[in-house]
Amino acid sequence: MHHLLIDSFHTVLNQVWAYALNAIGGNPTDDAIRAWLQNLRLDITAGCFNYRPSTGDPTKLSLHSYGIALDWDPLHNPHQRPLTKTLPDWWYMIWARNGWRDGRHFPTPDPMHVQFATGA
Ligand SMILES: [Zn+2]
Repeated sequence: MHHLLIDSFHTVLNQVWAYALNAIGGNPTDDAIRAWLQNLRLDITAGCFNYRPSTGDPTKLSLHSYGIALDWDPLHNPHQRPLTKTLPDWWYMIWARNGWRDGRHFPTPDPMHVQFATGA
C-alpha cells in the first residue's frame, strides 16, 4: 500500500471494527467481533499493490499499480455486469467517509474494489 494511505486505511479498519462492536451490542470480546466480521467475509482481501494494466482500459496502469486500491472478497463481489455484491452498504459508507471511492458504479461494476482516487 502507498505509505501516505496507511493512516487512512487504519482509520477505516478501526471504524469497521467499531461498527461491528456496536452492531453486536453489549460488551463483545475481540474474538466475537472477529467472528462477526468473518461471517460477512470482511476479512477477505485480494490485495492492494499489483503492477498491472487496468482491466477497464488496458492502455493505462491499474490504480493497484500505485498501491492506492484494494480488492475485497472477489469471489462474492465480482467485476461484472450486472452488479453482484455481498459487501454491506455501511462498509462502503465507512470507506467513503474517509475519502475512498469504490467500483460499484463503474461501467462494468467492480464492487470488490475501493480506491483512494476520484475520476479514475
Ligand atoms: Zn481493484
